[in-house]
Amino acid sequence: MQSFDTDLFVIGGGSGGVRAARMAAQRGARVMMAEAGGTGGLGGTCVNVGCIPKKLYSYAAHYAESFEESHGFGWSATSPKLDWGKLKDNRRKEVSRLNGVYQKLLLGAGVQIINAHARLVDANTVEMTSTAEGHFETKRLRAKDILIATGGRPHVPDFPGKELVLTSNEIFDIDPFPARLMVVGGGYIACEFASIFNGLGAKVTQLYRGEQVLRGFDDDVRHFLAAEVIKKGIDLRLKADVASIRQTPEGLLVQLQNGNELCVDAVLYATGRLPNIANLGLEQAGVIQTGDGAVVVDEVYRSNVPSIYAVGDVTSRVQLTPVALAEAMVVVDHLYGPAAGKAPKQLSYEFIPTAVFTHPSIGTIGFSEAEARKEFAAISVYRSEFKALKHTLSGSAERTLMKLIVDSATDRVVGLHMVGADAGETVQGFAVAMKAGATKAIFDNTIGIHPTAAEEFVTMRDPVVNS
Ligand code: FAD
Ligand code: NDP
Repeated sequence: MQSFDTDLFVIGGGSGGVRAARMAAQRGARVMMAEAGGTGGLGGTCVNVGCIPKKLYSYAAHYAESFEESHGFGWSATSPKLDWGKLKDNRRKEVSRLNGVYQKLLLGAGVQIINAHARLVDANTVEMTSTAEGHFETKRLRAKDILIATGGRPHVPDFPGKELVLTSNEIFDIDPFPARLMVVGGGYIACEFASIFNGLGAKVTQLYRGEQVLRGFDDDVRHFLAAEVIKKGIDLRLKADVASIRQTPEGLLVQLQNGNELCVDAVLYATGRLPNIANLGLEQAGVIQTGDGAVVVDEVYRSNVPSIYAVGDVTSRVQLTPVALAEAMVVVDHLYGPAAGKAPKQLSYEFIPTAVFTHPSIGTIGFSEAEARKEFAAISVYRSEFKALKHTLSGSAERTLMKLIVDSATDRVVGLHMVGADAGETVQGFAVAMKAGATKAIFDNTIGIHPTAAEEFVTMRDPVVNS
């Protein structure tokens, strides 16, 4: 019989890795976890350079607007001023508090944490390299099972001047505050950071190569959001891309592909993310990958090598923290059995709610109108656009959009979309109803909460489209 140093070896201490390591240890497995420190500390992308610091900056960015809007409610104050250094310091403190919380949870569950880069040697052997005490140390261990949870990294395309740009990993600590920021890309990260820096007081130019930002989202949502962020001051340029960038005494001179030039203080590239597989030994262990390097897994997140599993962004499926957490739970249930009295977890990728923390924000679940047209024989579309009650006094021109897509054959609500304040908070609750298969009739029989924006979702009576 083979002997192993550990039952489970987790590579990567981010959202998926921490969850799997902790829960496996709580189920009685001997667990080791290697974290290379690439994203900063325990907690990975989400805690160090993703969801958490991003949302804190998004809150910060809302204040300038809120001060402005408070005048209509009778408030007056001297002009507010941002202390960028203080915001960064407070963010750092909160992130290191969270790093500590993760460490405590892991150690408390009995996980052995190793500060090292780990790579696969074969189906059951991991090699760790750490730089402890100023010199490289290498150690090999044998594990019964191995979980790859190494996440992703920003991808910047090649062009002259590429070395001058920042990615989301660096933008949180940018110094000094960029008075003129260019954001390249039209996905989640580009749109969120364009809103954040615009709210914090930068002059933001956002370039997107396609017809409209947020490809894949409902078209109404995309156009509505674009119009709202332009109203708030973002210079959004569609069908635009960078040809080259060079440093000049006045700043970074960006040459666009249409020949125009723009001088800015910083350029943020948010042009997608690739799986983090550098020096991971996937080929050596015989793990099958997709063309972009993602680990190919089955429904229990097992690769073609039966002792090697992978969850989260390294599998390039749905790159969201709650999805990585849910995937980790499927692996733990599969390897060590479900929690007492529970069935083993399975994960369906249908009706995953998501939010884009732009200003205003987007909340969305299920099919876009275009997708629903392809999927269902006939659909009804309900749409409502209005000025939120708050803005009757605030002076803000911000508007809210809500949209429902209903499968005519079953009356099931198959798409729910919102652009407006706190859209993520609103949409999370509706996600439960939609997961449960709620019909439009159930929405209609639900009493609204008045006065809220969310009540609109249960009071939309007449479809704008029946087809
Ligand atoms: P990660 O969290 O990236 O963790 C991987 C860890 O593995 C890292 O700590 C890395 O240092 C370590 N590692 C890598 N290679 C090795 C190795 N060989 N050996 C040892 N350790 C290694 N999702 C949301 O749901 N909501 C949001 O609001 C949101 N905002 C985001 C904002 C930004 C700017 C970004 C970039 C992402 C955001 N995401 C958000 C996505 C979310 O952060 C990821 O989906 C999630 O972190 C993926 O978790 P993971 O466990 O796969 O990987
Ligand atoms: P996305 O895949 O969302 O967007 C990438 C964007 O960059 C797209 O607009 C794409 O255009 C554009 N792009 C790609 N390649 C190039 C290129 N060579 N030149 C110019 N533009 C290019 O990636 P992000 O980096 O924004 O985010 C990665 C993932 O992280 C998201 O998909 C999401 O899952 C997660 N995330 C979640 C958040 C949340 O939950 N709120 C927040 C932030 C990230 P095109 O559409 O034309 O391909």
